[in-house]
Amino acid sequence: MANSKFNRRESLKMLGLSSAGFLGMLGQGANTKAEAKEKATSSYAKGMAPVTIKSVKAIGTRPGGSNLIVVKVETSEPGLYGLGCATFTQRAFAVLPAIEYLNEFAAGKDVDNIEDMWQSAYVSSYWRNGPVLNNALSGLDQALWDIKGKRANMPVHQLLGGKVRFAIPCYGHANGKTPKEVAEDVQSFMDRGYKYIRIQQGGYGGAGITGEPDFKKAGFAKESDNYMSQGTYLKSVPKMFEAVRKACGEEIELLHDIHERVAPIDAIGMIKKLEDYHPFFIEDPFSPENMEWFKALRASTSVPIAMGELFNNINEFKEPIVNHYFDFIRIHVSQIGGITPAMKVARLGEFYGIATAWHGPGDVSPVGHAAQAHMDYALWNFGIQEAALFSDQLREVFPGAPTMNDGYMSVNEAPGFGVEIDEKLAAKYPMSTKSNWTVRKDDGTIIRP
Ligand code: MG
Repeated sequence: MANSKFNRRESLKMLGLSSAGFLGMLGQGANTKAEAKEKATSSYAKGMAPVTIKSVKAIGTRPGGSNLIVVKVETSEPGLYGLGCATFTQRAFAVLPAIEYLNEFAAGKDVDNIEDMWQSAYVSSYWRNGPVLNNALSGLDQALWDIKGKRANMPVHQLLGGKVRFAIPCYGHANGKTPKEVAEDVQSFMDRGYKYIRIQQGGYGGAGITGEPDFKKAGFAKESDNYMSQGTYLKSVPKMFEAVRKACGEEIELLHDIHERVAPIDAIGMIKKLEDYHPFFIEDPFSPENMEWFKALRASTSVPIAMGELFNNINEFKEPIVNHYFDFIRIHVSQIGGITPAMKVARLGEFYGIATAWHGPGDVSPVGHAAQAHMDYALWNFGIQEAALFSDQLREVFPGAPTMNDGYMSVNEAPGFGVEIDEKLAAKYPMSTKSNWTVRKDDGTIIRP
């Protein structure tokens, strides 16, 4: 304690300040209270001038064959705007009016107070949640983060704590009609530098392994409805893993998505059979209606599990995380309301040794992929990211979209998310109401994803 005066003087010297200058910064060098107040006020005023929201609008587009919705928030500062992903591809037109409500709600408010905006918008409809309202809210939330980054002249990951990794490891999607074809596709990803690869035979959930289903022959349901044989699928997956391990070796990390399409007890049985092939994770073993099966799954096998893309509310993650029901948080970020809630779930996961694996398919806009990538840079408990491979058309509509190299995703270092949208070009790809995600059994019974 005797040295404290000396230490302070030495510290100030290191900062290039005199004691008088330091006291002046604190307002203590002022002659009167009024002067001190004036000094304090002016130093506060040296911060950023207040900026308010002018409008919140939706931009719908479909350049890659999936409906994409981006929210654009314009502000009182000319030229300053933010973009956020509000894509609910299957019911895209339902999100547009929800965004109109947010325009009315947010216009005139301060762009800086993101947490307050999220909390107030979340309950402003009284009845909350659901994919429509949450996606609209995500568009607003992400756009405000983009604006904050632009105002701070920093990429968003810097506002979230800065980088903990140089780039973002991603997994690619290998597919094929036979195990041999899947293994060849895995090899092509390995040749491009990927270290993590998701393997599927016959597409998602094994639809397409078998031929014409009986319900179509009988003229039941729509011709475009998908079909899968659960029994054929369950037998095929261990054989696929065996073939890929044999052809591609032990080092490559392999993932697989069950897509919630089999009975819970069958999912557990199949996952146990995969233990010898040490998957990096198995995704979506159960539908959200069957969460109570996780206890039995965890008692049966140590294969790592990813789950959560169908959850609507961040509160759905509480019980699974504190009970270690799964190992990877599989959030569809726009689906749960944006960066603000996603970061909270991720931080909770850090306490329980659970990593992130944001959902990143083609029905997340490049703005959404960039938002996820900025979180991926900053989260210590990042696990893996689903790779985004954008077509040339998508890159033209969304200049600055994240890039892939050697299995790693990167974003540019521009302030905010670093992604723009060419609105004129976006308008050339109108959205569609065509959307059929139904999958049926052989007799036509609907399978719950
Ligand atoms: Mg999935």
